[in-house]
Amino acid sequence: MRKPMRILVTAGPTREFIDPVRFITNLSTGNMGYAIANVARKRNHKVTLISGPVNLNPPKYIRIIDVISAEDMSIQTRKHFKKADCLIMSAAVCDFRPNKAKAGKIKKANIGTLPLVQNPDILLWAGRNKAKRLIVGFCMETEHLIKRARQKLREKNADIIVANKIDKHNMPFGNNPTRVFILEKDGGIQKIGPEKKEEIAKALLDKIESVWYKKTAA
Ligand code: C5P
Repeated sequence: MRKPMRILVTAGPTREFIDPVRFITNLSTGNMGYAIANVARKRNHKVTLISGPVNLNPPKYIRIIDVISAEDMSIQTRKHFKKADCLIMSAAVCDFRPNKAKAGKIKKANIGTLPLVQNPDILLWAGRNKAKRLIVGFCMETEHLIKRARQKLREKNADIIVANKIDKHNMPFGNNPTRVFILEKDGGIQKIGPEKKEEIAKALLDKIESVWYKKTAA
């Protein structure tokens, strides 16, 4: 029998606070990451899910770690990465945050400007520290999707990138059927969909298992 994998999944958006009541975020709902976590669990893998703020029911029999900001997600991912065979970075991590959240609520008359700083790139860190692990990233682009996905595979030292196109025919956020490309570092590319996220999760897990069990058998 195959040894189950230890899979670390990140999901959902992050929130980057401006003041105590306002934040920067994005349209991510967490549906993709939760679908991946559920499918992986049903296949008997040991799953840990690091989740940004979402309105989804916590999946059963999965260890879930709630986080808010990209920095929290980075800390938790680094911590749990040590015990993972595979990291699936499906979270839509905010690329930037206000350099300092204001302690008091900003007043209308006192808006000023909002200096931003870059958040840690978790996937980049994971790629640099991957050792024998399998690293899976996502990307979402309005143009040059495949070219940018290949670039991301290289730059982030990932094994697999799931590429989502955003246009008027394909809106990857939410629970609608969507179309993706799964790219592998050896050049392989598989087109999936439009399909429900559960089906996309199954196809992705098929790919991950095939790469992992080939690699660990060698
Ligand atoms: O470079 P880009 O943000 O398009 O890459 C998307 C991938 O990188 C996703 O897998 C996302 O989870 C991950 N990411 C990250 N840390 C960030 C931004 C994105 O891990 N700060």
